[in-house]
Amino acid sequence: MSDAFAFRVGLGHDTHRLVAGKPLLLGGVRIEYPLGLDGHSDADVLLHAVTDALLGAAGLGDIGELFPDTDPQYQGADSARFLHEALARVKQAGWQPVNLDCTIHAQRPKLSAYKSQIKQHLADLLQIPADAVNVKAKTGERVGPVGREEAMCADAVVLIHRIPIL
Ligand code: MG
Repeated sequence: MSDAFAFRVGLGHDTHRLVAGKPLLLGGVRIEYPLGLDGHSDADVLLHAVTDALLGAAGLGDIGELFPDTDPQYQGADSARFLHEALARVKQAGWQPVNLDCTIHAQRPKLSAYKSQIKQHLADLLQIPADAVNVKAKTGERVGPVGREEAMCADAVVLIHRIPIL
C-alpha cells in the first residue's frame, strides 16, 4: 500500500444542553460548576466529539450508530466507555491514533485550571503520549447557545496511522 494511505484524519463535533442539577464532565474530568450537561449518557460533550473523530478517521461510522441513545444500557453511561470501545474497533481495523486536537466551547467556567488534567486523561484513554494531545477552550462571546450558557459544544480532530505489519 502506498504511504499516501498510511494516515487518515477524522472530525468530531458534539453539543449538549446545560441544565441545573447535573455534574459537568469534560474529557472525563469533573468540573466544579453549578450547571452540568444533559443527555442520555453522562453527556461528556468532549469525549463524544473525540469518539466521533476517532471513528470517523477509521471510517467506522459514528457514536450514535454504535451506542444508540435509545438503548437503556447507555443510560447515564461513563462516556470513557464509548471512547474505549471505539479505540478497540479502530485498532481491530488496523489503525493507531497519532494525535488529537480539540476545542471546548463554553462561555463559563474558565477551563484553564483543568486543561492539563483533561489533556492527560484524553492521552490515557487514547493510549498516546500527553504531548500528542492539545486541548483548547473558547467562550461563545456571549452570543448564540454557547454564549448564552444554554449549551456547550466540542470539536475534535484525530489523526490515525496504519499499524505496521511486522
Ligand atoms: Mg453527545
